[in-house]
Amino acid sequence: MAKTIIVSNRLPVSLRHKNNKFEFKPSAGGLATGLGSIYKEGENIWIGWPGNDVEDPEQRAEIILELHELKMAPVFLNKKDIEEFYEGFSNETLWPAFHYFTQYINYDENHWNAYVRVNEKFCEAILKKANPDDTIWVHDYQLLLLPQMLREKLPQATIAFFQHIPFPSYEIIRMLPWRKEILEGMCGSDLLGFHTYDDMRHFLSAVGRLLGLSSESGYIQADNRIINVDSFPMGIDYDKFAKAAKSKKTQNLVKKYRDTLGKQKLLLTIDRLDYSKGIPQRITAFDTLLKQHPEFHGKVSMIMVVVPSRAKVKSYIELKEEIDTLVGRINSNYSTLNWVPVHYFYRSFPFEELSAFYNLSDIALVTPLRDGMNLVCKEFVASKTDQKGVLILSEMAGASKELQEAILVNPNDMSGVANAIKEALSMKEKEQVQRMTSMQESLKRYDIFQWVKVFMDRLSHVKQKQSELMSKEVDAEVMAELHRVFLEAKRPIIFLDYDGTLVGFKSRPEDAYPDEELKTIVEGLSEKAQVVIISGRDKETLGRWFKGQKVDMIAEHGVWLKTRNDKTWQAYAEVDNDWKPDIQQVMEYYVMRTPGAFIEEKHHSLVWHYRKVESGLGDLRMRELFSHLKYMARGHNLQVLEGNMVLEIKRPDINKGRAASAFMKDEEFDFILAIGDDWTDEDTFKAMPKKAFTIRVGYSYTQANYNIKSPKEVRYLLKKLI
Ligand code: UDP
Repeated sequence: MAKTIIVSNRLPVSLRHKNNKFEFKPSAGGLATGLGSIYKEGENIWIGWPGNDVEDPEQRAEIILELHELKMAPVFLNKKDIEEFYEGFSNETLWPAFHYFTQYINYDENHWNAYVRVNEKFCEAILKKANPDDTIWVHDYQLLLLPQMLREKLPQATIAFFQHIPFPSYEIIRMLPWRKEILEGMCGSDLLGFHTYDDMRHFLSAVGRLLGLSSESGYIQADNRIINVDSFPMGIDYDKFAKAAKSKKTQNLVKKYRDTLGKQKLLLTIDRLDYSKGIPQRITAFDTLLKQHPEFHGKVSMIMVVVPSRAKVKSYIELKEEIDTLVGRINSNYSTLNWVPVHYFYRSFPFEELSAFYNLSDIALVTPLRDGMNLVCKEFVASKTDQKGVLILSEMAGASKELQEAILVNPNDMSGVANAIKEALSMKEKEQVQRMTSMQESLKRYDIFQWVKVFMDRLSHVKQKQSELMSKEVDAEVMAELHRVFLEAKRPIIFLDYDGTLVGFKSRPEDAYPDEELKTIVEGLSEKAQVVIISGRDKETLGRWFKGQKVDMIAEHGVWLKTRNDKTWQAYAEVDNDWKPDIQQVMEYYVMRTPGAFIEEKHHSLVWHYRKVESGLGDLRMRELFSHLKYMARGHNLQVLEGNMVLEIKRPDINKGRAASAFMKDEEFDFILAIGDDWTDEDTFKAMPKKAFTIRVGYSYTQANYNIKSPKEVRYLLKKLI
């Protein structure tokens, strides 16, 4: 039976050396708990680094055995790996880039090489355990290359990825010399999850611009499959915090601390030492409050927990010094014999003490400059079992998208934060309860278990969708059937769309002319079947390109017809073109405003092209033009249609389907094949009799019976028929 493998840089246990022996300390984090419901089941397993360096092979063997009991498997990393891959590329390149601290990005080729090397190590470790149809869920920014590495070795596996930190704007990601490799690595997944819609939108935009992969409604059209990208805001183990808050242990601690601190109001801040957390800015904001409002002196204190982290990295050492100085200054300026403004702890606390801090404090001040999610603010809310207390939350934290009832602040706006503290200090109890209740309801519902469930459900959904599309893939069996019917046929006919079907797209439409290979294919094919080129191109271009070939041609989506025996084109429809000047004028206006756009005039339609326009701008202008033209089209009885980087306006009753039907009206064909790549070809597919083979290029939903990957595969198929 297929199993699920969880992969993260760190295992949910820490390996500690003790007197030449080792021991494991389990991680109490919410993620480990949430994923417990997965990796502890059946044959499932969690693979990752145990958190310490082990060189001795005997000790390694022992560790493997012990971890096996815990349903885990180790990836052993050596000192160099840790220095270059973890501390280096992950924490000195990706971390600052993804948190918008571009000034701290270290561009080091050696670190990049180590990053590739360690991702490969993870891949090897997984391959030892994985079967081809397993589900593999990869976590976080240390393993961005892993999904694609796995995809190459296990093409049928279900691969998911979740990013626990922000995903930055394209403007940032493009700065990294390895941006393409990183995005390609991530695109090995079937499902990619981010905390917020903004992260997901940034990712889609980067993939579109840097890899040229288009997407619609969160589905990326990759080479041979669709990839889903979605937002899954991570929750906490809500009940654990709510329960702990009421426990005897916590309540005793709360009482003890209250007795020491007296009646003053308490502001709580808890973070890992990190420049993304905005700790100096927060101290400055508190300083501003005390400066502007002496009435709060002696009445409010800040409990500030800073958990040591990345202590060897220069920017972290400097940050620690800055915090020490700021705390020293504020305390020395304002302290009295019985009041200290900031109670500063540079260490971590056990769970019960944290719970007591959350319970005890009146206000939580959570003001990161940038944070993927932030769990501290959620834990504070869950711990407020009497619903009294106020959360001040940075707009830059992922959690702010969910916790709208917090007082939301811009962490860079020091006086704004000071005002927010003042507002929180004077907030009426009724309002506190109202806000807190609403936030609690949401956190209760979307807790960590629900997060895991929603993610896994979505993963099955994507696989289902993929298999629906794949079931229509032109595989060897379909190929053989096609070939068989073709060989037996006495009157075969083949309808071929041109752009996107026989040739790929070029930035200048005139450059997509038929190459020698294509000419040979068409020639060979027309020896054995009636070949109809059915295109949106104008008749002059088609006529020139297929001059001398024994093919029939339908131009401009069915306006014009020229059979191989005709000398001239005949019009399928009598059309008046009085509407053109009006529409052309509007299109010209949009060309003037949009560098790179141009108009193509066909006999009975006008086409606005935006393939060469700056990505994003083209789309925006197309939408504008679309609504403008839609309004005008009604008056002229015209139809506006969206194509591949084009907008076309024409008469509605002219389409490829009508033209193709007319073609088959008087004759009985015993083999019919139609291939096309966009919505204009859907009209052809719809018009085909049941026995026809209809094939759409690309993996979109279609009326066609089959999908095929690209023009390259179309050519391969046609060559096979010849
Ligand atoms: N935490 C802890 N001990 C401490 C202080 C904090 O275990 O002394 C935990 C806290 O409960 C929270 C996590 O550390 O679950 C911090 O997560 P968050 O998402 O807020 O920040 P990160 O450190 O992941 O950037």
